[in-house]
Amino acid sequence: MVAKTGSGLKLEATQAFMRDKLVDFPDAQVHIASSPVMYGLAIYTVLMARYDEKQKRLLVFRMPEHWTRLQQSAQIMDFQDFLTAWDYSRFETTIEQLLQANPAEQDVLIRVTVFVDELLAGTRMRGLRNSLCMFVYPYTPLLNPEGAHLCVSSWQRTADAAIPARAKVNGSYVNSSLMKNEALINGYDDAISLDERGHVCESSAANIFMVREGRLMTPDNASSLLEGITRRSVIEVAEKLGIPVEARSTDRSELYVADEIFLCGSTARLTPVLSVDRRPVGNGEAGPVTAQLRSAMDAITLGHNNDFSNWITPHPSLRPASTKLQ
Ligand code: PMP
Repeated sequence: MVAKTGSGLKLEATQAFMRDKLVDFPDAQVHIASSPVMYGLAIYTVLMARYDEKQKRLLVFRMPEHWTRLQQSAQIMDFQDFLTAWDYSRFETTIEQLLQANPAEQDVLIRVTVFVDELLAGTRMRGLRNSLCMFVYPYTPLLNPEGAHLCVSSWQRTADAAIPARAKVNGSYVNSSLMKNEALINGYDDAISLDERGHVCESSAANIFMVREGRLMTPDNASSLLEGITRRSVIEVAEKLGIPVEARSTDRSELYVADEIFLCGSTARLTPVLSVDRRPVGNGEAGPVTAQLRSAMDAITLGHNNDFSNWITPHPSLRPASTKLQ
């Protein structure tokens, strides 16, 4: 069945993938006594797909890397059932099936969730059933693309020994929600988290980069952060453009002396940070390195840069018709 999407994708009218099949979006539900509802026992990823107006197709960004990160979240959370039942080819085929059922002529996001599919199973995870669901929805930016005003959160980022930020676990987003909520109450757009040592981690839902004297810097992987797919892409693109880039730990005060700061993620894309704690970043406008990287990432995600065409999976795919889904 193909969703009736009219001129734009309407969430309620879409088809979602739930357990083993496509269902009408309103029917994709979990029970009030299930582990994801009671304890947040689920992992997820959000893929972005740009709409290629010229060739009338969607370009899914770095699908294999999203698969790998989802698998790693499953390893951390001991979701053995998922790790046994799913492989990359099944993941890719299911995304294709979902996109086929929901024709979209706009940029979209695809949210994939794997959850402990049990009722009243308590907090344990080993040996329990895992199920996968996914749905597609219109892209809306996380923050104003023109720029964001951030604060440093009074909430601390969850330590690796508490809830690992490296795993994209639904329940751990309580930490992000506390930060975001506090930031909005205090008149900011979002918040930057620090870890238990006072080192900068990321924002509530995106990774962070600073520019100082033409050098790009981002907190390293041991800084209690999600290993963002956009972050690693920005690092690779910067290297290709000859911009020196380093991943290292950094402190709150370095935010105040950076020439430029930007956030990045599948939903944030590249968002310039205009101020931190009401202190302007640089001259208070998006800087040149941010602008250069943003336009490079834009071109890549829209399929305009052949050097990075292997980062994109087009849908409908360019594979021979015989290998396509019925
Ligand atoms: N950090 C956090 C906490 C996030 O929620 C996200 C968004 N998924 C990111 C970073 C960026 O990751 P990605 O580039 O893979 O979307």
